Amino acid sequence: MYEGHSGSRIRGDQAWQGRAACAVAVEVARDPDLFFPSAQADDQRVGLAKRICSSCQVRRTCLETALHCGDTYGVRGGMTEAERKAVQRRFELRCDSARVMAALSGRDVHLTRAERQQFVRLAAGSGMSAPRVAEVLKVSEAHVKKLYRRERLKDVGASSEAQREVRTTDEVIPA
Ligand code: SF4
Repeated sequence: MYEGHSGSRIRGDQAWQGRAACAVAVEVARDPDLFFPSAQADDQRVGLAKRICSSCQVRRTCLETALHCGDTYGVRGGMTEAERKAVQRRFELRCDSARVMAALSGRDVHLTRAERQQFVRLAAGSGMSAPRVAEVLKVSEAHVKKLYRRERLKDVGASSEAQREVRTTDEVIPA
């Protein structure tokens, strides 16, 4: 990944950065600001950066990471700052079962709040140990036990406004 992006607050497996197209593109174009257009309209630079992103094999991961971390600077994953800002809120509210299942199977996934709730519900139902859940969610074991107690008390049939708002990843960010 282009080193100009490396200051991002990042989580999880970052090996994908080794396949970032921008790392090479910035050198070839000899333009260190290629992915960081100026505040004024810089359509040519934005257009070129987006074209590079569109053929980048890690575009989706890059975009998800930028949205997770709330990166507000530069073109990331084919989207400008303004474009990311427009989908940020929906992204944070999404509940993607595929990502929850990936976390349950041991993958290092940074879950949204709604996804964490689903994770706890499924973990409690499957009898996953509190220490294991604590490790995945990066919280204390005591907190997990509290979440498990809450899960047991919860009315399963209840539906909330938040649940109506959830979106899958595919609905929030472009393919
Ligand atoms: S999607 Fe764009 S910004 Fe992200 S790693 Fe690929 S080329 Fe770089």
